[in-house]
Amino acid sequence: MALLDRVIARTLRFVPKSIVRRVASRYIAGETLDEALRVAAGLNELGIRATLDILGEDIHNVDQANRAVNGYRELLEEIHRRKLDANVSVKLTQLGLKVDTRTCFELTDGLVRRANELNNFVRIDMEDSSCTTGTLEIYRALRRDHSNVGVVIQAYLRRTVDDVLTLEDLRPNYRLCKGVYLEPREISYHDMRAINRNYVYILEKLLRNGSYVGIATHDELIVWEAFRLIRDLKLSPAAYEFQMLLGVDEQLRDIIRAAGHNLRVYIPFGRDWYAYSVRRLRENPRLAGYVLRAMLKK
Ligand SMILES: Cc1cc2nc3c(=O)[nH]c(=O)nc-3n(C[C@H](O)[C@H](O)[C@H](O)COP(=O)(O)OP(=O)(O)OC[C@H]3O[C@@H](n4cnc5c(N)ncnc54)[C@H](O)[C@@H]3O)c2cc1C
Repeated sequence: MALLDRVIARTLRFVPKSIVRRVASRYIAGETLDEALRVAAGLNELGIRATLDILGEDIHNVDQANRAVNGYRELLEEIHRRKLDANVSVKLTQLGLKVDTRTCFELTDGLVRRANELNNFVRIDMEDSSCTTGTLEIYRALRRDHSNVGVVIQAYLRRTVDDVLTLEDLRPNYRLCKGVYLEPREISYHDMRAINRNYVYILEKLLRNGSYVGIATHDELIVWEAFRLIRDLKLSPAAYEFQMLLGVDEQLRDIIRAAGHNLRVYIPFGRDWYAYSVRRLRENPRLAGYVLRAMLKK
């Protein structure tokens, strides 16, 4: 990232919300369920799968967690009704991970059960490192009764290789990503070369162990490494999929599809767009240009 982009990325909290919203609109399907489902349907028409995320995290009481889970239940029903090729992605802090672990487990358990009845699947996103242990514990507990649930692991965390070994007996359905939260160096790699090598190292382990992997990246080098592994291990497309975020590098998306691989796009929507938008903008290598242009238009 160029210097000016890095400076703006670090000072985004001082940028007016209206500007953040305008620049981040490419990453978000809209505020309503209907807008998000229409984006999913459009992608399905192109042969692309979807995963839908209702924006929101870090709620403060059980009522908010109940409201969030009801939103997801409604989303599952609508996906079913509209016959979409889409599943859902949830953040456990939105379902009460930091308020009451038991409630969080029960709400997620009920959601996964309903998803199963509708022949669908729930992906548990991974949040910052204060949530890693709790999220993986809930994931293991859910797997006692359910197979239609998967979890995310982050290649930038030093602990991830051990987490993968600990969960090996479950042969989890994973999404593997680099990781987006700002973490201290003691627990996470800061050198992109180390993150990338760890990503490929873990990806190979997972694929060899027979885990289904959602290969979540927009990094051309990682995509190349994944293509290489898929070819060397003679994997069928049923063993993995690529995953990308809405609004990021659609050309790479087309290249992956044209090479015959399945691809899923992550579609966030809802009114609670700020935290997600800031995370996405911090990663945009052309951030400064977009923000400055939006400010001038204002
Ligand atoms: C489907 C999906 C789900 C994810 N779920 C999680 C999760 O649960 N937990 C978590 O911590 N992280 C999650 N992430 C985010 C992930 O951890 C990374 O932060 C993000 O994907 C960027 O990493 P990268 O692999 O694309 O590589 P990078 O090296 O960061 O990016 C590669 C290239 O992609 C382009 N690019 C990347 N991001 C943007 C952007 N926002 N705007 C424009 N261009 C961009 C740039 O050209 C960049 O050079 C998810 C990512 C995806 C694709």
